[in-house]
Amino acid sequence: MTTLDPALQEHFDTVLARNAGEQEFHQAVLEVLESLGPVVRKHPDYLHQAVIERICEPERQLIFRVPWTDDAGRVQINRAFRVEFNSALGPFKGGMRFHPSVYLGIVKFLGFEQIFKNALTGLPIGGGKGGSDFDPKGRSDAEVMRFCQSLMTELYRHLGEYTDVPAGDIGVGGREIGYLFGQYKRITNRYESGVLTGKGLAYGGSRVRREATGYGTVFFAERMLASNGSSLSGRRVIVSGSGNVAIYAAQKATQLGAQVVACSDSSGYVVDEAGLDIELLRQVKEVDRARLTSYAEQRPGARFVAGGAVWDVPCEVALPCATQNELDVAAARTLIGNGVLAVAEGANMPCTPAAVRLFQENKVLFAPGKAANAGGVATSALEMQQNASRDSWTFEHTEERLSQIMDGVHERCATAAEEYGSPGNYVTGANISSFLQVADSMLALGVV
Ligand code: NAP
Repeated sequence: MTTLDPALQEHFDTVLARNAGEQEFHQAVLEVLESLGPVVRKHPDYLHQAVIERICEPERQLIFRVPWTDDAGRVQINRAFRVEFNSALGPFKGGMRFHPSVYLGIVKFLGFEQIFKNALTGLPIGGGKGGSDFDPKGRSDAEVMRFCQSLMTELYRHLGEYTDVPAGDIGVGGREIGYLFGQYKRITNRYESGVLTGKGLAYGGSRVRREATGYGTVFFAERMLASNGSSLSGRRVIVSGSGNVAIYAAQKATQLGAQVVACSDSSGYVVDEAGLDIELLRQVKEVDRARLTSYAEQRPGARFVAGGAVWDVPCEVALPCATQNELDVAAARTLIGNGVLAVAEGANMPCTPAAVRLFQENKVLFAPGKAANAGGVATSALEMQQNASRDSWTFEHTEERLSQIMDGVHERCATAAEEYGSPGNYVTGANISSFLQVADSMLALGVV
């Protein structure tokens, strides 16, 4: 455990007391504060102006009831959240997550991370996040639509292209964004395209948005390997999860010449030594909305392992793309024992703090989620740009912009790490570089 600078420890104690029981939020705050000791020693003004306290306290937190009727005519009640965390750099921006595990602490951890991730993109977007404990799994399209409509009937009054712009996350994909946007449009009588991102191409979406988080993660991994004289080509890769981020991380890694030999979902994992068949995976997960067992049944040579950890499969590059704290210290030990060279987080905070420390101690290249998965929100910002100019870019142009943005994210992390005495430490670099940008903007904007 790293010891915090005493001035920062005092603020962290306040965060613990003020946000009791929100373990994931505590973890996310601690991870950032651990990097900031040298920053507040060099610039004590951040302490005098209470920037740390302000940055740890959301500007606004909304919690509301979402009543809806299921297909059997029963009334169901869910709880929804939107945490508008920090708007120093632009309108609040961050996805909505629909998963039974969602509670305020998860939304605050994600919103807090989002402030720094968005700053790293170099684009004018603030940080926010939302979600609900609604589980779309096993629900009909009509049930998902009624739930989304009810949620938006409350949320719409807090949104706007200059105020707060949600997108997708776990459990929220193109279908859900469509229903949310439809209801927003109906209630407000405004075709305000820039109010939600991740829209379908037919009604204002951006090319490459669907692929962006996974592609961006792989671009970042490739840059990180390149700066150490290596590359993804010919490497054995594992992704965890088999959702939006995982599928497109696997696709881009394959395009760059890697062999992606395993992926997972919450019931187990698939090993496919011939390299994942991405088109089949997309069919199973995106079209059929089926479980991974169905992939193994249709793919000769692939096998499904129920339960267990996908990290037991030997690999050189690991891309955790499922959910928070899915890769613990035992998994990290296994990966290191199997000779892993690099880990890039496609998901948000998928590696536990102890796992991250073990990777760093063993000289495994490690890219934190707030840097490695920033390509998703960056392309959301590109979607907003296209909406604002009533334009629609080609796939090639948009992918090129994404690639340049990921270059910039990598560069910012590497430079700040070097400048503050931790060369090669992307965690420190990401935290310091993004903190400085947000903190300086907050100082410039006064006490608001
Ligand atoms: P998704 O499409 O819903 O896929 C999530 C995947 O992770 C599914 O395979 C799911 O398996 C698995 N998973 C979810 N919760 C799990 C749990 N508690 N235990 C084990 N497996 C679990 O979501 P996504 O958009 O790919 O998001 C994945 C991660 O990336 C999240 O951390 C998210 O915050 C982060 N992220 C997403 C974006 C984006 O643009 N979508 C951007 C930045 C970061 P089951 O189907 O079995 O549940």
